[in-house]
Amino acid sequence: MSFFEVHDPAFGAYVLGNAPVKRLATGFDWVEGPVWFGDLGCLLFSDIPNNRILRWTEEGVTTFRSPSNYANGHTRDRQGRLVSCEHGLRRVTRTELDGTVTVIADGFDDKPLNSPNDVIVARDGGIWFSDPHYGIMTDYEGFRSAQELPCQVYRVDTSGKVEALISDMACPNGLAFSPDEMLLYVADTGRMHSKDPQHIRVYDMVGGRPVNGRLFHTISPGCADGIRCDSDGNLWSSAADGVHCIAPDGRLLGKILVPELVSNICFGGRAKHRLFITATTSVYSVILNRKGVQWP
Ligand code: MG
Repeated sequence: MSFFEVHDPAFGAYVLGNAPVKRLATGFDWVEGPVWFGDLGCLLFSDIPNNRILRWTEEGVTTFRSPSNYANGHTRDRQGRLVSCEHGLRRVTRTELDGTVTVIADGFDDKPLNSPNDVIVARDGGIWFSDPHYGIMTDYEGFRSAQELPCQVYRVDTSGKVEALISDMACPNGLAFSPDEMLLYVADTGRMHSKDPQHIRVYDMVGGRPVNGRLFHTISPGCADGIRCDSDGNLWSSAADGVHCIAPDGRLLGKILVPELVSNICFGGRAKHRLFITATTSVYSVILNRKGVQWP
């Protein structure tokens, strides 16, 4: 069987036709937020309903942190430290190299954040995160609470200043920079129980700020949640039937077919060309013919 669906001949350059999509681990409730630690040879990911962060290696899966405050998305900063979005305590944290946890942001305008969802770090050290309302609309251990801030995208600069930089989306979710950081892609998954459009928007980065937001691509079936760019500037997106590869001009090039609904992805492996995929109850990976650009 083929694990790939070609929509444009260009897709052939990005995949290895005989590379299998491997299921690495399964039996979870809802996995999200994969982040690769090449120096440790492991992948961290969230199992959100079970309130834990897990660690996958070739030897198997162990617990990295439990309780995790219902952590969702993760990334690493320029020093390699883990940066996490926590639904439960409605904050973004950094795990220092000695294991202590530092709060990066837990409010804006003297109001609590909603439920930080996904996070990326720019070359200048700025931490960008989305703050949709899904976490406070979900009844994990009574975390359901009133929404006090609109669903926005924030940046925390290296001095700790928090700014709301995208406020024109219904419910921002996954984030990714183009390789040159001249473009910022943001997945909008829409407010719960609404008919909001679900699509990926792209912004031009001018003077460090996102401007000129516009429609980039609409994923179908399902919608985009986690997104990542490869070294050629193609955007790889989660979808209901797998992972879709979208050219910089917005064309669908092809798909990686995955047997469960995909939530998020990250590049990793020694050559940064292994795509790790969190999909509902399982974690998968596939070797691609392009590298990812995300840090590290
Ligand atoms: Mg997400």
